[in-house]
Amino acid sequence: MKKVAFYTLGCKLNFSETSTLARLFEQRGYQRVEFTDTPDIFVINTCSVTENADKKCKKVVKEAKKVSPDSYVTIVGCYAQLKPKEISEITGVDAVLGAAEKFRLLDLLDGFEKKSEAVIHHSPISAATDYYCSFSQNDRTRTFLKVQDGCNYSCTFCTIPLARGDSRSDSIENIVRTARQIAQTDVKEVVLTGVNIGDFGLQNGIRTERFLDLIKALDEVDGIERFRISSIEPNLLTDEVIEFVAVSKKFVPHFHIPLQSGNNKILRLMRRRYKRELYAERVAKIKSLMPDCCIGVDVIIGFPGETEEDFLETYQFLNDLDISYLHVFTYSERPNTHAITLPGVVSMADRNKRSQMLHILSEKKRRYFYEQQLGKVSTVLFEDDAEDGQIHGFTENYVRVTAKFDPVLVNELKPLRLTSINEKGTVEVKEVEQEVLVHS
Ligand code: SF4
Repeated sequence: MKKVAFYTLGCKLNFSETSTLARLFEQRGYQRVEFTDTPDIFVINTCSVTENADKKCKKVVKEAKKVSPDSYVTIVGCYAQLKPKEISEITGVDAVLGAAEKFRLLDLLDGFEKKSEAVIHHSPISAATDYYCSFSQNDRTRTFLKVQDGCNYSCTFCTIPLARGDSRSDSIENIVRTARQIAQTDVKEVVLTGVNIGDFGLQNGIRTERFLDLIKALDEVDGIERFRISSIEPNLLTDEVIEFVAVSKKFVPHFHIPLQSGNNKILRLMRRRYKRELYAERVAKIKSLMPDCCIGVDVIIGFPGETEEDFLETYQFLNDLDISYLHVFTYSERPNTHAITLPGVVSMADRNKRSQMLHILSEKKRRYFYEQQLGKVSTVLFEDDAEDGQIHGFTENYVRVTAKFDPVLVNELKPLRLTSINEKGTVEVKEVEQEVLVHS
């Protein structure tokens, strides 16, 4: 039995797709092993958004060859779609597969027989029109379920449409069937992922279903305790979606909404499809219905043309918004994007300074949000990550909680009272039952 190991760079979508690839191998009789367990085959799923994607890819290939010098190394993923030739020239690489080919790798790679040169199976991105249902299965606490792929937007900094193709989705019927299958395992929480999941519902270029109907259907799936929406564009986060989450049985009060800039001039240059006023209105709508809802925000700093004043406007906008944390990205030039042609390049020193300021703001926001939750009872889902005698978990509204390790807690949902914030910035808890006993 040949042994195969996987390595994933990048986002939740890549993780869900790696799991699906692993299942395809297992169905054909391969044994899935750890990276260091002398595999015969490595599959490295790459990302184009990751800083230094090329260096990271090279490093993983080098490590793979150290572990198993005679192994067959296959590269798939976004970076493989964008730079197949460069990747095929990395020492140790045996095969590179593009976006339209990656799920056919078992048929395309001829029993993983090495050839004198690396083989490339790659088509233009317009050929990536098929949809492959994917979900991750490594972590028994949480599963990432892909519901949508690709993107029809044209944000000027983004290479994802070039690497993943046009927007396309699974059907609600198929997703519900997959969710029921996941419910048979011990998974408690499903995170819906995609490139642009608010755009859910396009099949072969025709809009056939709606995101709102998807979440309504999933809310009825027995056996899964929680659903989380990973990230959704503000212009697609409709009142109906917010109102449904507010009354839903299983969708948790947590949204991650990319903002990218709090300055309308920069949003226009980025070709985002909203102005900052719409973003503020979405946040206000959420908070009016779910005051304890956690709201995460993606921001890019240092985009071409972003002056000090523009940045300060973004800073002030975020400071005034009732949000819970930021994911800060430093703009970096990507080949084949429109942004790279724009004037007003921001110096690295300014990019670093702005990034630091927003990281500090993010910590301030997170702490404030956590402080608002102290004294309340929340249901915590504990993970399988014991460290220094402690275990971690998340509440429905994404407060990170720490407790003394107890194997019984792993993968359990437990209502607990949030008591204080410790020096590591996570929240300490206490038993609710004990408290009741003490008071009665
Ligand atoms: S919405 Fe914009 S940033 Fe997001 S994947 Fe599409 S093009 Fe990229």
